[in-house]
Amino acid sequence: KPVIVWFRDDLRLRDNPALHAACQAGVPVLCLYIHEPAGEGRRPEGAALWWLHGSLAALDTDLRERGGQLHVLAGAAEEILSTTVDNLGASAVYWNRRYDPAGRDLDTGIKASLRARGVETHSSNGSLLREPWTVSSQSGAPYRVFGAFWQAHRQGVVDPPLPAPAACAFTPLPEAFARRFDYPTGLEPDPQRPDWAAAMRGDWRRGEAAGLACLQDFLDEDLAGYADNRDRLDGRTTSRLSPYLRAGNVSARQLWHALSVRQDGGMAAGDRDIEKFKSELGWREFSYSLLYHCSPLHERNLQPEFDAMPWRRDSQDLAAWKQGMTGYPVVDAAMRQLWATGWMHNRARMIVASFLVKHLLIDWRDGERWFWETLVDADPANNPASWQWVAGSGADAAPYFRIFNPVTQGENFDPEGRFVKRWLPELGRLPAPLVHRPWTASSAQLDAAGIRLGKTYPLPIVDHKIARERALGAWRSLRS
Ligand code: FAD
Repeated sequence: KPVIVWFRDDLRLRDNPALHAACQAGVPVLCLYIHEPAGEGRRPEGAALWWLHGSLAALDTDLRERGGQLHVLAGAAEEILSTTVDNLGASAVYWNRRYDPAGRDLDTGIKASLRARGVETHSSNGSLLREPWTVSSQSGAPYRVFGAFWQAHRQGVVDPPLPAPAACAFTPLPEAFARRFDYPTGLEPDPQRPDWAAAMRGDWRRGEAAGLACLQDFLDEDLAGYADNRDRLDGRTTSRLSPYLRAGNVSARQLWHALSVRQDGGMAAGDRDIEKFKSELGWREFSYSLLYHCSPLHERNLQPEFDAMPWRRDSQDLAAWKQGMTGYPVVDAAMRQLWATGWMHNRARMIVASFLVKHLLIDWRDGERWFWETLVDADPANNPASWQWVAGSGADAAPYFRIFNPVTQGENFDPEGRFVKRWLPELGRLPAPLVHRPWTASSAQLDAAGIRLGKTYPLPIVDHKIARERALGAWRSLRS
């Protein structure tokens, strides 16, 4: 009897425990991806959907090279799986776990209904270094502080990654049956008019082979110096592996072991760089632990006192932020990079998020939602957990009263203004010291650079000092 592999956030052949176990069963394997309807948990949108599409196509190609194929169907997972099982006479379904509450609830229901039909279900960890429930404090409660979480996490063992299945017999889905759940054309996320993915296509290669190449490049080129350089905006200072991790084109275990091998072999990059990079993977684990234990993470303040925050509802300011028209160059450059490429550097994410939440006093959920639509790596754990961290409402959050100054942030992390000039060509002729604060330039300097403030580039939509006082006042109102 054949078995089914249900792919989800694990769109790869290597280190895929579900696929590996199914192939080891020694019977024909059917590979399935299900586009579940919106409303049953959070689904990828916009840029992440574009990424998903490329990843599905790449996985299909990889499977075809091995005699298989990926069937992509649309509909409710429970219905599709039970009908497929009946149609094929399948004996088991394999999948890798997901951690959001809606997804977990669905999986529990699916497991029960399949088992009631006499079908086995097998779930594995395909995404995390360690399962969230295996890392808890002595009292059994989940950790709320990253340092303690990471210390405990590091005491556990990270399983070595699995190879791609050596040999596997695949079975296709009968065509007539597949047509019942055909992929609806409305879901096609490759945009035409306007073609908002043009720059993304130029910037990214999607899928497993591209993810592994990206990892190799990072290990060879940028890991050395990562600890010191990772905050710089004006160069390639981080791995850019986040969309690959999000879609599961590569796994955290693969990264972990690639780093550990270098550590043991005493290779080029220093231990400090490797430890720093590992701790960033630790933040991902921490976010997933919060998603698992404290959801709905994208809706609920982890610190309930923030429920009373007097957020401003200002659609104009929100639009200026989204469009990169705030008048603060480092904020605007980052927001335009996000729109064009679907990605933003971590330091820039912190700067723009802080600006929205503190300078504009707009609810972090509005920003989280925009990131959800525009990031290729939009992640159900990392995105809301990081927004709550910046807003101050999260577990182990940045204190609300620590307010980034967008000018000094720009000067510190983009000292020559290269990052700003790349995304804001209208400021391209401004000398470096002025590029992060064009409103302080003299008329002669602005004329020489061809800039008319308020026309070719906006004046700041808020004054830093006033905005800072307003944010502190709002925060004090919570405390009293
Ligand atoms: P690297 O520095 O190379 O890090 C390697 C990997 O570690 C990343 O790919 C990521 O999986 C993980 N990582 C790094 N930093 C963090 C972090 N602070 N928190 C959790 N995991 C981390 N990351 C996402 O993957 N998806 C999101 O939707 C997302 N939204 C964010 C929103 C805000 C407001 C902020 C401040 C951060 C957000 N992050 C998100 C975290 C972080 O900014 C990105 O993971 C990182 O910038 C991705 O680039 P990289 O792969 O080059 O990172």
